[in-house]
Amino acid sequence: MNTVRLDDYRDVVPKGTVEFLRCLADRVRGRRFLHVNSTRHGGGVAEILHRLVPIMTDLGVDARWEVIEGSAAFYAATKAFHNALQGQNQAITKDMLDVYAATNRANARSLSPEGDLVLIHDPQPAPLIEHRPRKGKWVWRCHIDFSKPQREAWRLLRKYVAKYDAAIFSLPKFAQRLSIPQFLVYPSIDPLSEKNRDLTPAELDGVLERFNIPRDKPILLQVSRFDRFKDPIGVINAYRLVKKYNDCRLILAGGGADDDPEGVAVLAEVREAAGNDPDIHILELPPDAHLEINALQRAATIVLQKSLREGFGLTVAEAMWKGKPVIGGAVGGITVQVIYDVTGYTVNSVEGAAFRIRYLLNNPDLIARMGEAGRKYVRQEFLVTRHLADYLSMLIILTE
Ligand code: UDP
Repeated sequence: MNTVRLDDYRDVVPKGTVEFLRCLADRVRGRRFLHVNSTRHGGGVAEILHRLVPIMTDLGVDARWEVIEGSAAFYAATKAFHNALQGQNQAITKDMLDVYAATNRANARSLSPEGDLVLIHDPQPAPLIEHRPRKGKWVWRCHIDFSKPQREAWRLLRKYVAKYDAAIFSLPKFAQRLSIPQFLVYPSIDPLSEKNRDLTPAELDGVLERFNIPRDKPILLQVSRFDRFKDPIGVINAYRLVKKYNDCRLILAGGGADDDPEGVAVLAEVREAAGNDPDIHILELPPDAHLEINALQRAATIVLQKSLREGFGLTVAEAMWKGKPVIGGAVGGITVQVIYDVTGYTVNSVEGAAFRIRYLLNNPDLIARMGEAGRKYVRQEFLVTRHLADYLSMLIILTE
């Protein structure tokens, strides 16, 4: 894991943040804070932990990050669970539940998760709670869109969640009927990471040249795992509507996540929908393509995140940080990041997305103004330092 020091953030984050974090950290120095999730690479959770854990260490917290391991059958089961919890019709079979429980039992033995505070991210490792040691507080951290879970899937997961000492959701409306305390914590982006740091013009041009993307016309961009909830086909359809009137390019950039087995099939659907339009660029990226994503977001004229469900959508904050207006699906965490008519637009359909894309392309001044507003908003609300303050506060509240 890379070395990250809190002092490096002084010039980027709101004034007083670094001092505030040091005060909080003084109260929990040396305390053991363990994070557990199901993938080291791909997706927003890994993205956050790669940065948050080293900064916590720099602050004197004994922070660690473990990743559970499982077979293809386990990931197929947890992906089905994930889809059902995000509201898709999806049967959860007894075999799936068995592999879910057994894999977590095996991981509990190999990892022996222990800490003063153990934060279990998402449903995949949730059953680890069955094997918790006597000491330490356990909190379940939910990153997914919990606005309309399939009742049966939630009933199955709930029996694990109810055993935790608390739960954290990314949006007030994701909160559930539970007898344990529930906290609201927005995710965050790291302004100094390779994904978000400032780039030189040469770095930016270098990436576009490598991908063979000319900058001759406005660029629309969506960066996402190839996942149906991210609606890549909807993005292509919106682009086609726009293209009748406004010349532009579309970039769909994404890769897979280790814990997401559906990516290959979705990518094939996307390629088919794109046909041989030379202005659609489908970029399959490796998990460490941070510089590339950074450059693409900076090269974009408008960033799209046309999700149909979205736990939070870090790509939205990433784009706003780079001064880009965002047109996103009116779902989940996108609704707290996109301030309608100020930092972008939330939309409910392909036609709505196309309408707002055209509206912005025809109003270039607005593009710049919205981009600036977006960057300010992210600085205030969605940087890693704010996230850290939330987690340190939890460490204080739950373990003192
Ligand atoms: N991302 C990436 N490579 C990809 C696709 C996405 O590095 O091919 C990053 C993206 O920049 C963001 C995170 O992965 O930081 C995705 O987080 P988000 O909350 O948007 O969606 P999730 O994948 O967690 O549903």
